[in-house]
Amino acid sequence: MGVQENKLLRTKKPAITHSQVSGQLFDNLPVAVYACDRNGYITSFNQAAVNLWGRKPEIGKDLWCGSWKIFHPNGEPLNLDNCPMARTLKAGIAIEGEEIIIERPDGTRINVQPYPVPTFNDAGELVGAVNTLIDVTEQRSGETKQAMLAAIIESSEDAIVSKTLDGTITSWNKSAAKMFGYSEGEIVGKSIIIVIPENRRQEEDLILGKIRQGKKVEHYETYRRRKDGTEIAVSLTISPIKNQAGQVIGASKIARDISKQKTNEESLQRYADNLETVNSVGRMVSERLDVQEILQQVTDVTTQVTGAAFGAFFYNKLDEHGESYTLFTLSGAPREAFEKFGMPRNTAVFHPTFSGEGTVRVDDITNDPRYGKNHPHFGMPKGHLPVVSYLAVPVISKSGAVIGGLFYGHPEPGRFNIHHEGLVESVATQAAIALENARLYEEIQKLNSKKDDFIGLASHELKTPVTSLSGYLQIINRRLPADDGNKPFIEKALAQINKLSGLISDLLDVSKIETGQLPLSFTGFDLLHLAKEVIEVMQYSTKTHRLTFDSNINKLLVTADRQRIEQVIINLLSNAIKYSPGANQVNVTVSVADNKALVAVQDFGLGITRDQQERIFTRFYRVEDMAAHISGLGIGLFISKEIISRHHGRLWVESGPGKGSIFFFEIPVG
Ligand code: ADP
Repeated sequence: MGVQENKLLRTKKPAITHSQVSGQLFDNLPVAVYACDRNGYITSFNQAAVNLWGRKPEIGKDLWCGSWKIFHPNGEPLNLDNCPMARTLKAGIAIEGEEIIIERPDGTRINVQPYPVPTFNDAGELVGAVNTLIDVTEQRSGETKQAMLAAIIESSEDAIVSKTLDGTITSWNKSAAKMFGYSEGEIVGKSIIIVIPENRRQEEDLILGKIRQGKKVEHYETYRRRKDGTEIAVSLTISPIKNQAGQVIGASKIARDISKQKTNEESLQRYADNLETVNSVGRMVSERLDVQEILQQVTDVTTQVTGAAFGAFFYNKLDEHGESYTLFTLSGAPREAFEKFGMPRNTAVFHPTFSGEGTVRVDDITNDPRYGKNHPHFGMPKGHLPVVSYLAVPVISKSGAVIGGLFYGHPEPGRFNIHHEGLVESVATQAAIALENARLYEEIQKLNSKKDDFIGLASHELKTPVTSLSGYLQIINRRLPADDGNKPFIEKALAQINKLSGLISDLLDVSKIETGQLPLSFTGFDLLHLAKEVIEVMQYSTKTHRLTFDSNINKLLVTADRQRIEQVIINLLSNAIKYSPGANQVNVTVSVADNKALVAVQDFGLGITRDQQERIFTRFYRVEDMAAHISGLGIGLFISKEIISRHHGRLWVESGPGKGSIFFFEIPVG
């Protein structure tokens, strides 16, 4: 009978009998109780028993165990004869609280502690039993959860620790013991401060401050100290622990060891830095043309990025015996450390490098089969730099020739890895290109200086006979009567000789400029007058162009080398005429501004493209399209530029293709 029904009964029938009272009491008991007869048939049960069983047995027909399944608390099926009620009925003894599991008809299982008590008649004969069933399911599941939780905490890879609000440690799992080196016994009850490095103690106050406010601290990366004093990188997650009233009574702390992650991050960062260094070396060496500088840079940087104790570049220049290599650059050790043992020889260890076979990387070269095979040292000579880790990369030119090798050593084994190998190989490729360029550049330099020598010598040797030739022709010319038919030819020959002499002078000038021996002699003169004079003389021999002169001043005194400035004006004027075949005028203007004399020579000819404008002032440079049909050596502007800059002045051009050109020069006034 339910509570509800009971209430109704009471209201309808206020007067009830004594047996009804005990019946109702039985029925309303919050504990499951039932009785059965000697044979185990259920004779009575209360509502709580119905709730517990999940079914209502039929009085006198259902056996106490009915068709229920009963299990041992460990989950194994329980033989019915062994269950507490059966044993009470059999032996007439009370059994107390031996736990069993009952499976209800709907399949759910409950943990029950039965308390069967035998009942006897007045004659003392066993007539049945009364059983009280205590439902302990919730308690058990709580315990199971608790046990699971404890197991999880114990088996966790993370250190899990709890502490009170004043930082006293209250629990410490296995991983915490492993991570920090303190056993549970030695640290519980102590302050958490033990594992916090001195310089991070204020962190704990901040963390506890947050916890007191009921806040969580997540993934806080910091360092903690082990028992042995070493520090360890950890990620902390700290949560407040609250009591049932919701008050914060402590904190749980999960610490994850992130030292591996940190090392990985650091090595990734180092790798990225190394790549950056290697790239910058690539850029730098490709700009350099000095072999020594290139190789020193390459050796220094690669020694640094590989973490080698020392690194070296050996040139593949064989000596007369054909088996020695030349040490060129060294990093991380003094030169004598190598040189006192002579150069490495064509041994089994070095062979793969100098033959260009490929990279050699060995964790311990002293254990390598190639090592120690050669007379007289059979290994490294005594006192040699201690090489255990060994890395050697050949430097091979595009044509396949082995230029040399980069070698690295470290006194400890296993210091070089595949990344180092890759880095050095890529630098070696770049170095090979740079060295090739430098070699070509050196060759060009050598050829250039030979050419300069030749020009100097040739022009010098030509100058004397041409001068005498010119002198003799002038004598002949003077001796011939005015009406002599040969006179015009002599005069033509003289004009050609003068032209030749001009060319030779120009070549000599170039040679003098190269050797820094172009002499200047400064005098004071009127630049305006000089310009007019040159125009006059040149107009005399120019039929195609009209040379105009314009100036807003009457006099312009300068201190300069008159002859050299004249040479510049002649050069600019003759270029203006030469390179404007379709035009008929060239304008010269002379002005003064900012204490500088400015001369401008303007033509209306072919013009010069922007990218040629710089180059035309260099030695022997001629704009190709024009050079074919207009004669010249390409040195006039080079000499002019040098003359003007020696006067602390400036020579430049403003021009555009088809628009003509204006050449300007300025020199200081006074
Ligand atoms: P050269 O006239 O003997 O070739 P220069 O040194 O005087 O040597 O001039 C160098 C080059 O500059 C010339 O070959 C020509 O291509 C270009 N150049 C010089 N002056 C002019 C000009 N006025 N107009 C166009 N191009 C010029």
